[in-house]
Amino acid sequence: MTYLDTIRYPSIPSDLKNLFKKVPKTELHLHIGGSTRKEDIEIFMKENGISNEEIPKLLQLIKPSYESITDILNAYYKVPKHVHTPSQFKRATFGIVQEAAKDNVKVLETRTSILNKGGEPKEIVEAVEEGLKEGSKWVQENCGYNMRMYLTILAQRFGTKEDSLKTAGLAIELAQRPTSMIHGFDLAGDESKHSIEEHAEALKYIKKEGPKHGIGLTIHAGETKSSGNISGVESIKKAIEYGADRLAHALRLLDDNKLKEFVIENKIPIEMAPWSHVQIKAVDSYPEHPIRKFLEEGMNINLATDNRLMSQITLRQQLTQLWANNLITNWNQIKQLTINGVKAAFLPDIERQKLLKETEKDFSQLENDFAKTIETYLSEDKEKIKVA
Ligand SMILES: [Zn+2]
Repeated sequence: MTYLDTIRYPSIPSDLKNLFKKVPKTELHLHIGGSTRKEDIEIFMKENGISNEEIPKLLQLIKPSYESITDILNAYYKVPKHVHTPSQFKRATFGIVQEAAKDNVKVLETRTSILNKGGEPKEIVEAVEEGLKEGSKWVQENCGYNMRMYLTILAQRFGTKEDSLKTAGLAIELAQRPTSMIHGFDLAGDESKHSIEEHAEALKYIKKEGPKHGIGLTIHAGETKSSGNISGVESIKKAIEYGADRLAHALRLLDDNKLKEFVIENKIPIEMAPWSHVQIKAVDSYPEHPIRKFLEEGMNINLATDNRLMSQITLRQQLTQLWANNLITNWNQIKQLTINGVKAAFLPDIERQKLLKETEKDFSQLENDFAKTIETYLSEDKEKIKVA
């Protein structure tokens, strides 16, 4: 096992790993292209005319770790883009739902951009919705529960202001179809080079029209310090100024206490994907990730994977990593991450209340198992200490 593997797949007792698998979870930050199953993306590459020699080279761009956010974004623009046509979006989404069910995800928010794809934006949206609906049926039949799921429409920071405004217009228009599963809008991409201000019109439009159609606003902000002109802190401030209902990452709250206190006081939900932060070197090492400190300070954090394919990660693995690195140490924290996620999900209120009740019940059923497992784990640890 390499050093990287020991961080990536830490060793903890299998009973505990199984429990982490069973824990009810939320997944509010998942990019469809970046989370498609590897076997699916390989098929899509073939369909998109990539030669047999070229495919392995492209797949090698998916790495255990990346030099920086720019490095992962470079890979990002070459691999996930092969989820391109409506039929590919549908198959990719269906596979994502199946994988999420293995993590016992209770509410799944998928997100994607819809411009410049291999079909009209409406066709892309409908294809994702079909994938979600078929996935939902599959989860009912095979896992016996109702996974809540929906779609967030994403605008790219590197795009023009016309592009983001067009995307916002489409999100509102398409959300008015009776069958719509659109519940969110997101701004993503390189935050150090493209200010949120560039997309002010789109964001104002979403804040004005979105709530009428059940659309919440989340913004990628504060993922890295800065590799351009705009700092992570600046990015978070702007996201709040433009009315983000949730922040994605917001790791750089580390750099500004006043801003951090504001976020805590106002209970602004943060979608956090710790493994991706370690992977792109946004933190120096896993044990130095601030999630434990943030949780102790009362920050409203929910756990997400961001890109299951590009980061080669699942939610259960992240719980294992957090536990092994002492960043979560008790049942209440695990429960809190999920409850925060349910409360922050862009679901109709009645649905959220139902899910909250179900989640409380699921947790109470697992609590004793957890206590027993931990007791054994700790006594084994004490034995080891005695022997040493
Ligand atoms: Zn993201």
